[in-house]
Amino acid sequence: MSSVGTSRPPPFLRKAVRATLILAPLFGMNFLTTLYRPPEVCDDWSRAYDILKNVVDGTQGFFVALLFCYLNGENEVVDFCWNLCMENLALEKEGVNPSRVTHCVATHGHYDHVGNMNLFQDAKWHIVGFTVFQPRDKCYLHPFECNEPFIVDDWVRILPTPGHTLSDVTVIVDAVEGMGTVAVAGDLFEKEEDVEDPSLWIGAGSENPAKQKENRWKIASMADWIIPGHGPIFKVTEKHRDNLKSQLP
Ligand SMILES: [Zn+2]
Repeated sequence: MSSVGTSRPPPFLRKAVRATLILAPLFGMNFLTTLYRPPEVCDDWSRAYDILKNVVDGTQGFFVALLFCYLNGENEVVDFCWNLCMENLALEKEGVNPSRVTHCVATHGHYDHVGNMNLFQDAKWHIVGFTVFQPRDKCYLHPFECNEPFIVDDWVRILPTPGHTLSDVTVIVDAVEGMGTVAVAGDLFEKEEDVEDPSLWIGAGSENPAKQKENRWKIASMADWIIPGHGPIFKVTEKHRDNLKSQLP
């Protein structure tokens, strides 16, 4: 898949480099205690050495789990339905605890995409369209206007995709197992059928149809799957891409 506006190395490569840099020393940390071994005499120093060695050996797995399973996780929730019960059910089904969510993204500010943001008061970042806010800190002015993506982590980035509103964003998730690149596009796409029938997305409201056409093509050219604002997820085919390209202004 082509990717737009980025020269980053592929996610699997970054993942491998990071894992090597962090995991290699962690897996080898038990050998630190072999750098110096006290003489085989039964004194306080050798007893302390034995305790230290056992602690380091015994907690190695714990530190690996802590770093990779608990401290390294970035959880994102994108676009919130309006109905509180539905939202809680959906989160529960996915095994997401609202207090563990770090990034809270609404693709744009329309009421049907921002409900229940209050569930995620512990999130580090709240993003609504081009507006980025750190609840316990301060407002952060990210240059979406300059086409600058907001990088969440090695696999997730947020791209400016105005059109439906002038400050829409799309969340791009790379290297999703069995899928490839997935775009959470909000109302940039209403549903799969609007690729064939543009009256569906234009009729739903577009503040800048020319920009929206451009960004629909941009996202379809980089994504394998698209989650539209008001329809089920769909696989992007070459026919979709040809169609969207032919609609460019
Ligand atoms: Zn909308």
